Formats: sequence, C-alpha cells, structure tokens
Amino acid sequence: MTRATSELLIEPSIIRDNILYLKSCIKNSSNFMAIIKSDSYGHILQNVVRDIDDIVDGYGVVRLEEAIKIRKISSKKILLMQGVYSEEDFKEAQEHSLDLVIHNKHQFEIIKLNNVFTNLWFKINTGMNRLGFDEDEFLDIYDSFLSDKKFTLMSHLSASNVPDNQSNKNQFERFDKLSNKLHPDILRSIANTGCILNFPEKSFDWVRVGIGIFGGYIGNSELKTAMTLRSPIINIRKIQQGERVGYDGRALAEKEMKIATIYCGYADGLPHHIKDGTQVMINSHMANIFGKVSMDVCTVDVTDISECKIGDYCEFFSPDLSINNITSSNNLISYDLMIRIKSRVKRIYKNL
Ligand SMILES: *Cc1c(COP(=O)(O)O)cnc(C)c1O
Repeated sequence: MTRATSELLIEPSIIRDNILYLKSCIKNSSNFMAIIKSDSYGHILQNVVRDIDDIVDGYGVVRLEEAIKIRKISSKKILLMQGVYSEEDFKEAQEHSLDLVIHNKHQFEIIKLNNVFTNLWFKINTGMNRLGFDEDEFLDIYDSFLSDKKFTLMSHLSASNVPDNQSNKNQFERFDKLSNKLHPDILRSIANTGCILNFPEKSFDWVRVGIGIFGGYIGNSELKTAMTLRSPIINIRKIQQGERVGYDGRALAEKEMKIATIYCGYADGLPHHIKDGTQVMINSHMANIFGKVSMDVCTVDVTDISECKIGDYCEFFSPDLSINNITSSNNLISYDLMIRIKSRVKRIYKNL
C-alpha cells in the first residue's frame, strides 16, 4: 500500500446522466436550472459547471463569490437565489450579469434606487415562512412598480419529497392564486428535485434542481450517487464472543468475529453517531459498521468477507451504494453529508 488516504471520487458522467433523466421528467417548455450552491453540493463547482454547461439552461447559487466563479466559465443564466443585501454587491452582481432574487423590501429598495428592473426573480412566501414576500406585500409592489415589467415569480416548497404532505397543496394554491393576479407574461418557478419528481406538472418555466443531480434524492432508483467516499482497511483482527469494540464498548460480539479498522473517522466528515449495522461495501460485499466512529478511524464487521486485507477499500457510499442508505439509517440528510466531507479527504474528480 502507498500512503493511506481517504478519497472522495466524483464522477461527472453520473451527474450528466442524472441531469438527462431529470430533464426527461419535466415539460419540454421548462428551462433547467442546475442548483450548485455550496460548491455544487460538495462536487467541485467549476469542474461541474464545465462538464454540464451544454445540457443545462442556467445555474443557481447563494453566494456572490460562487456566482462570479461560474460567470468566468459560463455565459448561461446565473441566479443569485437569495439576492444581495448592499449597494456594492448589487453593482457587482450587475457587472457579472447575474439574475437576482428579491425576497424582501430591503432588497427591493436597492432595486428602486438603481431603477434596474431586468433579470429579477421575486420570491413569495407560500408557507415556508423563511424568505419571500407575503401576498399583499407583493401585490402592493407589483401594482406600483412591476405591472409592466417582465420578471419571474418564484417560491420554494417545504416538503416536496413527501407527496402527500398537505403543505404541498397549500403552497401550490397560494402560488397559483397570486400568479393568476399578475399579467400573463411573467415566468414562474417553484420546482426543486422533489417537486419535479412528485408534481411534474408544476415544472412551469424554470425548474431549480439540486440534490437529484447528485443522486441524493430518496425514492428514485434512476438517480445514482455521483460521489464515492472510500478509505482503506489499516488493520484486521479476530475477537472472541463477549468482547467489545470501540469507545464505550458500544458494539458487543455475540460470536467470534473479524473486525476491520478503516482509515476514516469523524475528522474526515463521517458523522460520529453512525449506528452499528450501517452498511458499507468492501470488495463488492456488504459489511456493517461495528463500534462507534472515532476521530480518525472506524470499525467494520468483516466476519463474512473471506477475501479482504489491509489496503482494500471500504466504501461508505458510491454509485453502487446510494448515499441515501447511510443517511436514512442514521437520521441524516444527503445534502448535509455531501458537503461535510473534510478537506483532508483527497478529492479526485474523474475525467468525463
Ligand atoms: C437548494 C435550493 C433548490 C434545490 O433544491 P433540491 O431539493 O436540492 O433540488 C431550489 N431552490 C432553492 C431556492 C434552493 O435554495
């Protein structure tokens, strides 16, 4: 074995396949915005943009710095999904031809002051109560300033991945009710990944798709996890019935067992509270976490894997072992797990 390292492999071909599949789920008339905030959910922003630019219609991010990085390599639409909060940032956004979300009056004041009404997305609150204008507040602004302007009306769903959740119906109703009061040339956007899969008829003019692109959406087997977290075995030992493994002796051997110690711990971003029994993959065989995750290592039950040795990789998630496996069995969400992998894990972005 060369020097032991944990690796995060990123496969752009899978990101592309996921995008093409997701595009096949929406109306032809809707535009596809790839949401790549937070370093494209941990997949290396500029590389992802370079590799998907020909199959998307635009990008959505939250941080101005990220939008500017994208503008250097793409001429497509770039939406700053929470807008800007100062005159300076407004000017900078203008210089880079960014689309801006306006979600409150403070932001709208900046627009009024500069009298620039192009490439704006007005966010309305349909029930999430986080960002966005309430209906009356928006209609006041609309009547005074926007009734002859082109813009996109947007909102965001709070439970799009749970189709039966009543909030979806309520949010669609509020969105439709308000948009029907506006002139017919406005564009509309409410759909994230869960929405286009569960309510494809709501894809409207722009869909804003993030987690599905990276294969972290639960409940669709077409979408594959585009990143692999893998780390080598650095020790293997036999233990007897009645022995315990790891901190606090959480894992108790009920029979003779073979335990592999893996070079990956919570300092690499593996959540420390991962449960015993969580599935990982070694040499294409399933194995289970056995013992609490430590700072630099974790331990896996490899009793049933006859062929494994020091240097073999343990995969925590991969295209063949969905990230949703580890997240659903541990009360985690894929969004968070994708972006929490630490920089000491070597990121390897594969060629397309
Ligand atoms: C992150 C985000 C999205 C994408 O949501 P996914 O569930 O990852 O598809 C869409 N719209 C807004 C405003 C977002 O912040």
